[in-house]
Amino acid sequence: MAQKQDNKKPNQKNPILMFIIFAIIAVLLVRFTSSGEGGFFEKMGGDVTKNIDYYQFKQLIKNNEVTSVKIGQTLVKAVGFHNGQKVYYVAKKVQDASLVALLDEKNISYSGFSETNFFTDMLGWLLPFLIIIFLWVFITSKMQKNMGGGIFGMGSSKKLINAEKPNVRFKDMAGNEEAKEEVVEIVDFLKYPDRYASIGAKIPKGVLLVGPPGTGKTLLAKAVAGEANVPFFSMSGSSFIEMFVGLGASRVRDLFEIAKKEAPSIIFIDEIDAIGKSRAAGGVVSGNDEREQTLNQLLAEMDGFGSEAPVIVLAATNRPEVLDPALLRPGRFDRQVLVDKPDFNGRIEILKVHINSVKLAKDVDLHEIAKLTAGLAGADLANIINEAALLAGRANQKEVTQKNLKEAVERGIAGLEKKSRRISPKEKQIVAYHESGHAVISEMTKGASRVNKVSIIPRGMAALGYTLNTPEENKYLYQKHELIAEVDVLLGGRAAEDVFLQEISTGASNDLERATDIIKSMVSYYGMTDVSGLMVLEKPRNAFLGGGMGSSREFSEKIAEKMDNHIKETLNERYTAVKQLLTDYKDAIEKMVAELLEKEVIDGERVREIIREYEVEHQLETKLVEREEL
Ligand code: ADP
Ligand code: ZN
Repeated sequence: MAQKQDNKKPNQKNPILMFIIFAIIAVLLVRFTSSGEGGFFEKMGGDVTKNIDYYQFKQLIKNNEVTSVKIGQTLVKAVGFHNGQKVYYVAKKVQDASLVALLDEKNISYSGFSETNFFTDMLGWLLPFLIIIFLWVFITSKMQKNMGGGIFGMGSSKKLINAEKPNVRFKDMAGNEEAKEEVVEIVDFLKYPDRYASIGAKIPKGVLLVGPPGTGKTLLAKAVAGEANVPFFSMSGSSFIEMFVGLGASRVRDLFEIAKKEAPSIIFIDEIDAIGKSRAAGGVVSGNDEREQTLNQLLAEMDGFGSEAPVIVLAATNRPEVLDPALLRPGRFDRQVLVDKPDFNGRIEILKVHINSVKLAKDVDLHEIAKLTAGLAGADLANIINEAALLAGRANQKEVTQKNLKEAVERGIAGLEKKSRRISPKEKQIVAYHESGHAVISEMTKGASRVNKVSIIPRGMAALGYTLNTPEENKYLYQKHELIAEVDVLLGGRAAEDVFLQEISTGASNDLERATDIIKSMVSYYGMTDVSGLMVLEKPRNAFLGGGMGSSREFSEKIAEKMDNHIKETLNERYTAVKQLLTDYKDAIEKMVAELLEKEVIDGERVREIIREYEVEHQLETKLVEREEL
């Protein structure tokens, strides 16, 4: 090993650097050997140099104590002898026209000298030269980097790559147990790669963390690295893309190279949508070229490393739907972990984590703070705690009080309004009834899909709450009763507001639009009604099964009127039925709403349990729809 290194001469590696060094040595040699006027050699030797005033200098001349004098622009020098030793005298020059006359008179030899010394000389010489070399190196390295390699290797992207060994642990992330559970095994992969390699298991390479900003995606990735005690290399997706074409790709290469060297390790790419946006969605803007190259490099790197060195790539995004499908293929980011906004209990846990480092007054009630902060993400909560501590500090208090916390919540929310939204208790109640309506109708309507989760935590900017139905993959065909069931479920939200609050809100507008679309396409496209029988009135345009563009009407006014009436009547008829069903199950829904208001999220199983309990209590025959187990 050592021998190999000895053989490797540096100039083989870097001719340009060698050239620069040679040039400097050559210039030095030339300057050293030629002893010019006022040059270097004059002051050498064991002789003494004395700095004196001009007055003393003149005295020396007058007293004949010097043998020769040199006159420069700002200095005068003289050579003399003192106690048998040669002495060089140097003095600052003074405007003195009589000096030469004095020297003539004393018959002392004199001459002029130029004061530039060796180093300033040298600098004047070399500076332009160095600038040119520097520019040249800079330009060629940029060029070569684009082609791969580059003279100074990964110099520039190293600065953008964030390398650390985090001491974050899972306990630092609160309120997202499901997400944590999904990543614990990654810690195991990183800690004991041999265990998996020996049975031939392939360790996953990429995990996509999906969730709104500030929910702790970066924190979770760091915690994985921290728990596994491996290095963590992070870079933001947007910093891959820059002006120079090819730079992004080379940064990806550098990132993976460094991480592989330190394997086992974790690479974290924040905002991966900046590079991973679907190529199909792009269009033909030239900027996409760069992104595509970067994306291709990322895909190549992920395909490139095998199981020998566990480097696991975690990436974060808020918009998984815009990602290029190639990124999500097996062997790449084939796992997705949802990192969602915290529910009530989650918020309490997060507040506890962040309040740990803060001195608290006795009156602090985190439950109340959690109630006030529905819809906020972990980062917002961390900010609120910090803001409260700042307020307490400003007021010169020893502890943070509940009042500080509440004030911080108000301030925080004012500042956050654009980013996340908090819902008022009144809105929360409306949303709870609305979503419960969807959920109950879903569970009791044949042909509708099973409820997975009901939530009144705002999601994104549009939805204040949501009812998550079990996604039915690969469903291409809908029977008529399934379409009607879908309409019922959509109407369930508005109907619940109507039945329980005796007032309706704007919250149902999207539901109503979709319900209308479904009935309309049943008439005009699927030939399912007697408005026009089997006659198709329109080309595909419906929102329900995903159609194409809008189309022109190709039917008579009479049919148009009939269609409008049919849609209106069907909606009314379904609405009445849905309202009746909700009224029949009033107490069950009230119970659900109470639980939702407290916990903010309940799962589908709990929804079914509440309905079942209610039916047993009232000796009703069950209307819960039996479905195959998942
Ligand atoms: P993201 O990457 O999802 O945008 P971050 O991980 O950068 O969010 O979160 C920013 C900060 O917010 C974290 O450093 C942490 O202090 C706080 N935070 C966010 N979520 C949580 C959580 N679940 N538990 C504790 N702290 C959190
Ligand atoms: Zn709705």
